[in-house]
Amino acid sequence: MAKTFCVANQKGGVGKTTTAVNLAAGLVGHQQRVLLVDLDPQGNATMGSGIEKSDLTKSVYHVLIGHATPQEAVQRCPSVGYDVLPANRDLAGAEIELVDFDERELLLKTALSSVVHDYDFILIDCPPALSLLTLNGLCAANGVIVPMQCEYFALEGLSDLVNTIKQVHAKLNPDLVIIGLLRVMFDARMTLQQQVSEQLLEHFGDKVFSSIIPRNVRLAEAPSYGMPGIAFDKASRGAQAYLEFGAEMILRVEAMNLTQKKLTEVKS
Ligand code: ATP
Ligand code: MG
Repeated sequence: MAKTFCVANQKGGVGKTTTAVNLAAGLVGHQQRVLLVDLDPQGNATMGSGIEKSDLTKSVYHVLIGHATPQEAVQRCPSVGYDVLPANRDLAGAEIELVDFDERELLLKTALSSVVHDYDFILIDCPPALSLLTLNGLCAANGVIVPMQCEYFALEGLSDLVNTIKQVHAKLNPDLVIIGLLRVMFDARMTLQQQVSEQLLEHFGDKVFSSIIPRNVRLAEAPSYGMPGIAFDKASRGAQAYLEFGAEMILRVEAMNLTQKKLTEVKS
């Protein structure tokens, strides 16, 4: 059964989509079966996976409102071979339409339950807001991956996200944990970034992934070719970092499974 992870940070432009797309590709590189869910009306993860968002007849929007099954809407990323539940601007209306639905924060979780056995990983790319869409992502997930740039204000924004995750954990999804903070667009030559990185490690300890994603122009160029960086230039430092991050995620999931097994044994 798949483990599901949300890539979330309400701050815009911090590298959520780059992380979701390249982690999906990195996991495929480690022989994992992956579904990438684009939960952002911008449709960047869709386009970055080589799927034209303006051509979609069925998208995650139709899945959320119950007009399509995930199987009907899923498409394959042509360059790497993970599946994508794509999105486009249709999804922007969902926030308002979904207000009338019962259990509106659980719609994605319910929809994905029919495909959890088809994958090892389901990754959800969230929009830059703590909105109903993000809430659906958090309710469907076992864990949250938080990409962040090591900048002066990074820690401030993090507390809102951590509070939201705590509330979702307490009220809606007891499974949910922050699986880790991922340092992205990292430039080791900048003293400030080194300092913030050290602060992160002090505050969050082993919640900080040991993989670090460098600032790398090949990762930024890849989406305009409709490819994850890993397909566009596998040898680049950015692609290699995401491959390493994929391996680290697999280890974290193994550790999660082990802890769960122990808990079940203690309970029974
Ligand atoms: P949004 O909040 O709008 O959804 P996001 O958090 O998904 O944004 P991305 O779209 O992944 O952020 O990244 C923002 C910009 O930074 C993009 O132009 C992307 O190509 C670039 N970028 C992301 N990661 C890197 C990196 N490691 N090196 C260089 N450029 C990067
Ligand atoms: Mg994005």
